Amino acid sequence: MPKSRKAFGLRQPSGFRERPTAAQRRAVEARANGVCEYCRILKSFVPEPFNVEHIIPVAQGGKTEIRNLAWACAGCNYYKHDKVKAVDPQTNQKVQLFNPRRQRWEEQFAWDKSAKLLIGLTAAGRATVQALRLNREELINLRWALGELGLHPPILGSQK
Ligand SMILES: [Zn+2]
Repeated sequence: MPKSRKAFGLRQPSGFRERPTAAQRRAVEARANGVCEYCRILKSFVPEPFNVEHIIPVAQGGKTEIRNLAWACAGCNYYKHDKVKAVDPQTNQKVQLFNPRRQRWEEQFAWDKSAKLLIGLTAAGRATVQALRLNREELINLRWALGELGLHPPILGSQK
């Protein structure tokens, strides 16, 4: 925290706020097309509230602005926490996690044939699948049930 700015009564730079405004929250939610931007589960079938999360955490210099915010289900938000990097299980190298603002989901992830498992197509995709546990049991069960209803995989417009 830049204490000196406060001490001298200077305005904090915009984007310093940790909590997104109501307008930012609405914009982030609208942009996400009703699904978690990581695991793509439909919000309307998840009992816990979704979160507007900082892709780069504030503590690591991330700003509270639309291009650093993503909409995530409670589970993905929990496992991501303050991570920005994780190990790619294929190379054992630490790499940047998937960034939904800078990368296209479709280029990082694909569904397996059954559409129950997410496969990482790239280093970032593989690291994110593992670190955020994008194939956790609850998601696999929901994908199966939603698939039976014809609601999975979700059909979305461009998310960039
Ligand atoms: Zn999720």
